Amino acid sequence: MAEKSESHDLYALPGLRHGAPKAGFPEPEMLPQVAYEIVHDELMLDGVSRMNLATFCTTWVDDQARRLMNDSIDKNIVDKDEYPQTAELERRAVRMVADLWHAPDPATALGTSTTGSSEAAMLGGLAAKFRWRARGGTGTPNFVCGPVQVCWEKFARYFDVEIRQVPLRGDRLTLHPDDIAGFVDENTIMVVPTFGQTFTGLFEDVAGISRALDEIQTRTGLDIPIHVDAASGGFLAPFCAPDLEWDFRLPRVKSINASGHKTGLAPLGAGWAIWREAADLPAELIFDVDYLGGSMATFNLNFSRPGGQVITQYYDFIRLGRTGYRRVQQQIYRVARHLAAGVRHLGPFELIHDGDPRRGITAVSWTLRDGDPGFNLYDLSDRLRTRGWLIAAYPLPADREHETIMRAVLRHGFSVDMIDLLLADMGRGIAQLRENPRSAPLTRADVGGFTHSATAAVPTSNARGSGSRR
Ligand SMILES: *Cc1c(COP(=O)(O)O)cnc(C)c1O
Repeated sequence: MAEKSESHDLYALPGLRHGAPKAGFPEPEMLPQVAYEIVHDELMLDGVSRMNLATFCTTWVDDQARRLMNDSIDKNIVDKDEYPQTAELERRAVRMVADLWHAPDPATALGTSTTGSSEAAMLGGLAAKFRWRARGGTGTPNFVCGPVQVCWEKFARYFDVEIRQVPLRGDRLTLHPDDIAGFVDENTIMVVPTFGQTFTGLFEDVAGISRALDEIQTRTGLDIPIHVDAASGGFLAPFCAPDLEWDFRLPRVKSINASGHKTGLAPLGAGWAIWREAADLPAELIFDVDYLGGSMATFNLNFSRPGGQVITQYYDFIRLGRTGYRRVQQQIYRVARHLAAGVRHLGPFELIHDGDPRRGITAVSWTLRDGDPGFNLYDLSDRLRTRGWLIAAYPLPADREHETIMRAVLRHGFSVDMIDLLLADMGRGIAQLRENPRSAPLTRADVGGFTHSATAAVPTSNARGSGSRR
């Protein structure tokens, strides 16, 4: 407790008389309430997560899920023997996800929870690399993809696999089946379609890519497997576009990753990697840990990890079921289409993804129509920030990097009413930018004396935000 001579007012206590310790390991201690207040108050400067339309990740969590997270704050998921029921809930969840994605035998399909899609993608990629080597592959392995999330560039670099990104041709925004033949060879360990592109929200055509690979096999004998990056599509299409074939219904699909903490609705730190059949996960990747007097197979990059995310994901699965997920996701698509209609109505934009559940995820993306409206999308992103809305603007991937796109990801917790507030702010922001273009933040193009054009690909460092498009 505070010394006799000390104040009893929190903000007059010693720890709050000076700035927070910032460099070097601090020497003095402080009361937990004081330290809490320092940390809590500093975080007020973070954006409001629910107004963050740049993130794909869960920003609304119900009370029961919060309680389960709190209940399990002390549980390490790697301690299978000590917390056998947490391990059991994970096994059930793996079977549920395998069933959702049409694994031939969900009861025996192998899969694991992960910290997110990044870890799940690494595992899927590693399994493909080990299978390629077991088939006698030598030389430098490669994989083929379209514009991918940064985790695949990481996988390539960390694990010495060449990434062959097919550039966007013409007005294409997704990996096109016709383009694949020119990029594969005997060292191609997999093709990675993105089911729910980060850049646009659009689904890539997994079935078409699978057919293209069938033709390549007939012609050349190369049997190239598919790993689907379904980070955000994996918990949408099964409910809202069930006849879209992108999953284990396609025999060439050997593994799939998804983020439980995106459209899976789990709190941050949940992902899933599932293999079609046990044979698709090479034994070298499996480590056994003690489990109820026996052993249990694990295959993860992490050792210790919190158990709450998996526990809460299992809660989401049994709480909502297919019926509940369908209702929740359909409502989010409805909100997305409401935003798309509003954006179209505002005038100067051209929609790339309008929230159609058969074409992509619960997101809306747009570019500025041709002709200079006196501002660019980075300016608009900046204007919206003054009202607390976080919406990413960024250049398209190669070879369309001269174009700028804006994307809003809709998630559980967004209502039509919130979107109306956002649209009103967009309308006001556009009017302000049109009336007073100089109030727009300086772009690097301004500084360099280039024309300030609607399609300027050079963002302000602020609006671009490191990784905001990821
Ligand atoms: C978000 C995302 C990832 C990375 O997932 P995390 O869960 O953030 O690790 C990978 N691929 C795609 C397509 C994504 O949208």
